[in-house]
Amino acid sequence: MKSFCNRIRFISSFLLSATLFGVANCQGGFQPGNGGENGQQSQLCTNVSQSLLEEIKRYQPIVNQIGQLILNGTYKGIAYKNLSEFVDNFGSRLTGSESLEKSIDHVLNTMKFIGLDDAHCEDVTAPKWVRGYESLTMTVPYKKNIQVLGLLPTVQTPEEGITSEIVVVESYRDLQENKNDVLSRVKGKILVFNHPFDDAVNAVTYRHRSAIEGAKVGAIATIVRSYATFSLSTPHTGEMHYEDDTPPIPSAEIAIEDAELLGRLYDRGQKIVLNLILRNQRVGNITTRNTIGDLKGSSIPDEYVLVSGHADSWDVGQGALDDGYGVILSLLVPDVLKTMNLIPKRTVRSIVWTAEEISKVPLGAQQYLEQHGDELRNKYSFFLEADSGIFNARGLIMNGTDEAQCIISEILKLLEPHIIEKTRVVTPFPDLKTDIVPLMRATGVPGAILDTDGEKYFWYHHSNADTVTALNPNDLDVCLALMTSLSYVLADLSIMLPKMVV
Ligand SMILES: [Zn+2]
Ligand SMILES: [Zn+2]
Repeated sequence: MKSFCNRIRFISSFLLSATLFGVANCQGGFQPGNGGENGQQSQLCTNVSQSLLEEIKRYQPIVNQIGQLILNGTYKGIAYKNLSEFVDNFGSRLTGSESLEKSIDHVLNTMKFIGLDDAHCEDVTAPKWVRGYESLTMTVPYKKNIQVLGLLPTVQTPEEGITSEIVVVESYRDLQENKNDVLSRVKGKILVFNHPFDDAVNAVTYRHRSAIEGAKVGAIATIVRSYATFSLSTPHTGEMHYEDDTPPIPSAEIAIEDAELLGRLYDRGQKIVLNLILRNQRVGNITTRNTIGDLKGSSIPDEYVLVSGHADSWDVGQGALDDGYGVILSLLVPDVLKTMNLIPKRTVRSIVWTAEEISKVPLGAQQYLEQHGDELRNKYSFFLEADSGIFNARGLIMNGTDEAQCIISEILKLLEPHIIEKTRVVTPFPDLKTDIVPLMRATGVPGAILDTDGEKYFWYHHSNADTVTALNPNDLDVCLALMTSLSYVLADLSIMLPKMVV
């Protein structure tokens, strides 16, 4: 086997002249050895054989070495360095933009540079939207310009905008219960939803469905309090939905502070008038690309463990947290393994998805599923994605049988305490859009995203604050060590993980 020891690896591309990608640290061997005690088996492990649990423990020395290389060795800080260069050079990467396609070229070149097998792109069809002029002005009771971000695919307002008195509610229930006779007052007006972030799954329905629920009660546009847990007057954006049986009305998000201001004024009986201009445009369908590369398995190369993230982002900030870091970690996992000369039995397949954000379903993953359904169903042990933030990673949020959860939990214990003080596996998987969700639903193959500090993630998510400045190198290193360790052990284990019933 070709050794990658003691050589410095550089990425070259049309934009990046020289990016340090890692230096091998080849102290000692990298074969499974004897593991130590790692806590108590849970009830989930009832049907897992003792021999498999002991097999997992024998990976302890390898996980220690992966952790050492990434947290204290030559890969320390490399993920942050690569991520900052990625987002600084390409910027935000909205589906249909030139910057996204250039970033995908870079991902492909990097896969080839790393030496992944069969590195290639596959076409994906997706809609293209262009954000036009947007503004929101309060004209009564006094003039105030309000930061606004249209949701996509919002319909346009007329060029001069919509000028209307507003009605403010806190929830869909206010409409259902006709709170304060809201239904008689909302017709022909702009409806503002000032709904606090209660939980991620419920709160996002105000971004997704406000235009539908608003149109049902006769509103002419909806303004939504940003889907965020904290704000420094930063509006957020994202994807919204229409339904065939309700007229499409314009919809946009404003910062928490402004939503609360409008709510307070309204509750005091103040008349409030807003002028909303949204000139976003759909400009047809485009072709974008998923990017795929393999660290080919040594003895069962036609079985896979997936490591993934998505290249596209919203057109605000840098898309560092969502999901530039997922791109970089999907490249670095096989790079670290190659550098350490750790070639597992199965193939570790990196896929950098495209067009995750722009539609109700993640289009890159959905179209990959349509084209590779049999392989995904029959040949994959696990789907892993980094698309849930990096802050204070503690383990995984996963979907899988008790047996699969036990195996993942036992593998994560190998990270304690040198990589993560105390690991955990969280279920159920949230009903939120992620690339691996349609894959898991269609195939029954278990999968996971990182379990991180989600509250902090939503400070930045889909806003101008999503820049590499929000991240820190150590958090990224921990995520990389987790994903590399897990991918290696899963790809090298004697068994594939059991599937769920679908
Ligand atoms: Zn997103
Ligand atoms: Zn994402």
